[in-house]
Formats: sequence, C-alpha cells, structure tokens
Amino acid sequence: MKYIVIIDQGTTSTRAIIYNTGGEVIAQSQEEFKQIYPQPGYVEHDPIDILSSVRSVISTALTKARVKYSQILCLGITNQRETVVAWDKQTGEPIYNALVWQCRRTKDRCLQLKQLGYEPMVQKKTGLQIDSYFSASKMEWILQHIDKAKSLLQKNQLCIGTIDTYLLWQLSGGKIYKTDYTNASRTMLYNIHELRWDEELCALFQVPVEILPEVCPSSHLYGYTDKEVLGFEVPISSIAGDQQSSLFGQCCFEKGDLKVTYGTGCFLLLNTGKEAYQSKNGLITTLNCQTVDTPSYALEGSVFVGGAVIQWLRDELHLISTSAESEVLAQSVDSTNGVYLVPAFVGLGAPYWNFDAEGLITGITRGTNRSHIVRAALEGIAYQVNDVSTSMTKDMNQQVHFIKVDGGASANQFLMEFQANISNASILSPLNKEVTALGAFYLAALQQKLYSGLEDIKQVNPIEKIYPPTMNEDKRKILLDGWNKAIKKSQYK
Ligand code: ADP
Repeated sequence: MKYIVIIDQGTTSTRAIIYNTGGEVIAQSQEEFKQIYPQPGYVEHDPIDILSSVRSVISTALTKARVKYSQILCLGITNQRETVVAWDKQTGEPIYNALVWQCRRTKDRCLQLKQLGYEPMVQKKTGLQIDSYFSASKMEWILQHIDKAKSLLQKNQLCIGTIDTYLLWQLSGGKIYKTDYTNASRTMLYNIHELRWDEELCALFQVPVEILPEVCPSSHLYGYTDKEVLGFEVPISSIAGDQQSSLFGQCCFEKGDLKVTYGTGCFLLLNTGKEAYQSKNGLITTLNCQTVDTPSYALEGSVFVGGAVIQWLRDELHLISTSAESEVLAQSVDSTNGVYLVPAFVGLGAPYWNFDAEGLITGITRGTNRSHIVRAALEGIAYQVNDVSTSMTKDMNQQVHFIKVDGGASANQFLMEFQANISNASILSPLNKEVTALGAFYLAALQQKLYSGLEDIKQVNPIEKIYPPTMNEDKRKILLDGWNKAIKKSQYK
C-alpha cells in the first residue's frame, strides 16, 4: 500500500493527514502553535514554530498510521493564505516573524493608497480590493522596516513569500522556491488575467519582482522533500491556499459550483470557470486550483459572523448549553414569529459593506420565547449566506441550483434545511467534511496519475445528505422582505 501525506497549515494549528490512495483518511495529527500579538491589531507567527509543528505532525501521523517512509507516495500542502514570511536564502533563517493575514499594521498605508486612487487599477489586475489583509503591504513593511531584509536584498540573498513557499523551501532543503496560482492570487502583486507578477504593482509596493517565487499550477511536481529534513525523499505534488483547496475538495470543478463553509464566519466560493468577473458587490475575484496552465476563476465572499452567533447565544446569553441544542430549540417552533436577528457584531460585509451597522433583534412581542430567538439566530446565518450568494450570482448572471456545504455549523440540519429554502437551492453535504485537506489530496493524487480525471475524483467523496428546497415562492418572499427590513434597521443611525 502507498500513502499520501497532506499538510494543512492553518492560522491556529497545523495538521498532517495520511490518506491511502483511495482517498480514505488513515490517521491524522494536529498541533496548535503560538499566536503572537505584539500590540493591538498586530498578529504574528514564529516561522520556526510553524516549521517544527509541520515536522512534528507529519512524524506523529505516520507513526499513528504505521506507515513506513518507503510507503509514502508524495506530499501535498494546503495553507493559510496571505501570511508573509521572509528568510535568508543562505541559512534558511527567518529574518522576522510571519506577518499573519489578520495583522492590521499596514492599514494606514492601504488607506493612503485608496485615497491616492489606486484601487481601480489594483482591482482590475488582482481581483482584490486594497486591504492590509493581502500580502503586498506586509512584504513592503518588512522590506522597509527590517534592516536584515535590506542587507539581504542587496546581497541578492532574500527570500520572501507566503507560507506555502516557506514550507516548500524548507522541506526541500532550500532547493525549491515556488508558489501556486491560488496563493499568488492573494498577494495583491499577481496579475490574475495575465498570470504573472505585475511590474506596476511590484513597483507600487516596492517589492523587487525578481525576488518573488515562480508560480505553478496547484497540481504540479514541485520537486522533492529533502531526506535530511523529513527523513524521506518524495515528490511534493500539490499546493493550494485553504479556501481554494476546499472548493476543489468539494468537487466544485464547473462554472456555477458554489461551496459554503459554515465555521466561526462563513466562507463562500463560486467557481466562475474561465471567466474572471469583476464584482459590483464588493466580492473578490480569485484564481482556482488548477491542474493545468489555463486559468479558471472564482468569486469569493464571506460572512463575518456565522457560527459565532451560536457561540454568543451559548456563552453570553446562556440561551443554550451546547451549539447542537440550537437545532432542537429551532425545530420546537414553527417559525420565529416575526423575530429577526442580524448579527452585525462587527458591521456588515458583502453586499452591504457598512462598518457602522449594529447587531439587533427585531420583531419581539410578549409571545417571543428563547426558541424564537435561537431560531432567528440560525436563520440569520442563512440569510447572510444568501445575501452573499445572491450577489455572486448577480455578478455572474447565472443562478445556482445547489450548494456544497462543510464546516462545524453545517452539522445543523435545521440550518441546512432553512438555507435550502431561503436560497431556493439544494444543499449537498459530503460524507467527508474535511474538504480542505481533501482538495490538496485530490490535487496531489492527480499529479501522481492515481485518477484519470475530475470525473473519477467525484467518486472519492460521495454526497451523504441532500436538503432540497421545499418552501414556496410567496413564503420565501415574505421572509426575505422581513430580513431586508431588519438589515435596513441595523444600518439606521
Ligand atoms: P472554525 O474552523 O471557524 O473554528 P468550525 O468549522 O470548527 O469553525 O465550526 C465551529 C463553529 O460552528 C462555531 O462557531 C460553532 O458555534 C458552530 N457550530 C458547531 N456546531 C453547531 C451546530 N450543531 N449548530 C450550529 N452551530 C454550530
């Protein structure tokens, strides 16, 4: 038997998952690492911590799976996106902590660029809005603030890139300096239409284009792991940013395929095929995982407060004692009795983009009880997801008829049924919900020619449950009207 090792390097933890060639998970191991908050709004990781967590989870997972080095076919990587690491090409030593995607230290610089009118140009080339969230301004910050970066740059000895590039370089013993399209498309330096680092953007952020890594398809023979580093030498066959990897893991291979991850927030990606749509609703355009050099695109949007509203009901209001109880309470009543809960705890994202919006519960009467409020909270998640997906379909000018789901809150059957009804689309829940790592597995398995093509792959993770829409149009319209009124109220000052 042969096995594939997938590394899922996330924001708070690193996992290694061992798959057999049939796509079954044989064993896994997970390790959290330190989150560094030097001052409010700043978030860093120690790259050495990240690398050692990777080595440690691989070793533990292999031991658990009783897999010998000689049985490893290849390795694949999926990773937190946008986070930037800089290191010394000679020694491999990081010259500063990784600047994590959440880090806001460059927000004033981004605001300045917006005020100077750069946004349309940046959006046109990268599909992104200028924001400190993306890598470009973080790279600029390192190059301008860290003396070691300046001196290494002069000696032509500076490496700088996203987490995948750092791991690839380290695991190959300093031999491979590459990234993939999905990660490159989050840097704000990559032209997603021409598939190249953009000279104008590199000049704007003062990042010399020649120090950036080579960009390859997500399913690709990147090179080999170094025996000295991992104990075994195998091909590195896939790299993908986490959200795009999960889109691929959900088998959303065609134009019109949509996936929603219901976690703390909700993350939506819609495959738009060969066409890169520029959103009129503040969504992002990004590159999909590719198995070949022809680009394909997705629209991406998120809901800031998804499952987090259920945590809020549990931990702050004490209306429920477990997240799962929310389902029982929601189903104990026929409706919310006119109650709406807009969880605009941090303002409203797409398509409203109103950071002054405030959370609210509206429509309360003497007859309102906790079940109504809990139900309204779950419905609020579905309405928000629907608002984003509706914006996406408007941008693409095409309806979606099914939505693939994953993430913690997708276990809530009430939520899934309501989503199907309010979005008038079937909700498809796969058997294996760990789709982020699965995407990187598929990509690696394709590179290794274990599967003949995408159709073949669909057999690996069958749909476990389908929630068809059952609500009539009139009822849907009445509910959506109520939600739209509540959204307006949440923005009333
Ligand atoms: P993340 O990766 O963002 O930490 P997870 O995918 O682990 O998120 O999902 C956790 C979130 O899902 C939490 O916000 C939790 O409140 C919510 N959640 C988990 N189970 C349920 C459930 N049965 N019903 C509703 N929400 C749930």
